Amino acid sequence: MSPPPMNRFFLKTFGCQMNFAESARLKTWLVGSGFEETDDPEKADLLIFNSCGVRRSAEERLFGHIASLQRRKGPRLFCLAGCVANLRGEEIFRTHPFIDILCSGSRLSELPALYFEAKEKGRASALGEGLPSFVSSLPAAQGIFCPVSITKGCENYCSYCVVPYARGKLVSKPADDVAAEVRGMVERGIRSFLLLGQNVNEYGRDVKDSGGFPPLLGNIAAMEGVLRLSFLTSHPKDTGEDLFLVMARHGNINRYLHMPIQSASDGVLRRMNRRYTLGDYERTVASARLLVPDISIGTDIIVGFPGETSEDFDETLRFLDRMKFEDVFIFQYSERPGTAAARQFKDDVPPAEKQRRHELALSLQTRIMQRKKEESFGTTYEVLIERHAEKSAGHLIGRTLMGTAVLFPGNGSLGPGDLTTVTVTGVKKGYRYGEMRQEKPSPCPPSHQSVLERLSSRTKRGISGGGNE
Ligand code: SF4
Repeated sequence: MSPPPMNRFFLKTFGCQMNFAESARLKTWLVGSGFEETDDPEKADLLIFNSCGVRRSAEERLFGHIASLQRRKGPRLFCLAGCVANLRGEEIFRTHPFIDILCSGSRLSELPALYFEAKEKGRASALGEGLPSFVSSLPAAQGIFCPVSITKGCENYCSYCVVPYARGKLVSKPADDVAAEVRGMVERGIRSFLLLGQNVNEYGRDVKDSGGFPPLLGNIAAMEGVLRLSFLTSHPKDTGEDLFLVMARHGNINRYLHMPIQSASDGVLRRMNRRYTLGDYERTVASARLLVPDISIGTDIIVGFPGETSEDFDETLRFLDRMKFEDVFIFQYSERPGTAAARQFKDDVPPAEKQRRHELALSLQTRIMQRKKEESFGTTYEVLIERHAEKSAGHLIGRTLMGTAVLFPGNGSLGPGDLTTVTVTGVKKGYRYGEMRQEKPSPCPPSHQSVLERLSSRTKRGISGGGNE
């Protein structure tokens, strides 16, 4: 007797890093539940679209993509998962009748059951919060790297953002569970971890007597076998010296902080309900750069928020020029239904003006990044080797502590998971290109040693200024 045919799934992800991390884990979950992945939608029995409702453009791309596949749908089942499913609810079954399954981001682990229910009954849905479980607790390593979700949801209610409505209240994963998850991955050979949350710095705020994010970060960094540890995203109002001190103490924590400012105008920040000022933000950056001198900082900005004047925007441009960020993600404001901004403000910056501001900010940041690239030539970095380069025979791709990818020729003895040092000599195929040094990196790079020296003298003098807490 031949075995029953496998149910094949095709998974397409839209939007943010959290969604990509959840999709990676969902794949592992589905395969473990007896499904088989295909990258050909035509061969799939179940097509899953993991959606993001944060930006209108992402939602439009999502529905455009589903519509393009719909004409050849046949007996295949379509599942809309993630934020948009949760935000729009069962109304989707009426507006998009070719969708068979709805599943919120919090309930992805129910997908196998939903698939069989929809096959039998025609439709199935699992919306809202569900059980307080993390699909992310399922392993989903990619090579030597694995993202680990430490929080779900957000209650900051920035006025433009749908996340609090789509993903619900803040729920922190217990610290013991995070540690156990990382330990299990280390045993399987994973060496690099990314702690993920909408605002990681709020970790533990929902739990009585929690120590918060910095101690969690320090504890994970101290675990044997963790060679690299990064985290994403940091809200400026919750980011400060306690975090930077932990970063300074652990040489395996990435020297990278992604801290979205959104606008450099205090008036716009107030209307966005961000709860910090430009001055607060700049003091936090100064504190980060003092305590972690080799830190790279990235940010997000939104151009064309309701009421953003040319002067407000010019302030943001001057700010970008001053701060010299490692990277900047620029978004044009789009009104999201149900948010405070949509209720209270008129979307009054014309699309052409939003586009103009976007292009100006982008061209400024491109020049800054080009200069930074050139400044890195001749510098030697500690690099964690991630993989063999597919398109450059004999080459390896690794990442510096600042999170920058580097391409370099291998020597046959080192491979993924090994640490080495690389001197950057130029740019090739979009990567920084370099030569591997023979010496192994010291356990505590010189820059960290100087920070630790500075910390001990600061402790003697007492700490003043810096941070916004
Ligand atoms: S912190 Fe603000 S922007 Fe970030 S997810 Fe929460 S509400 Fe949205």
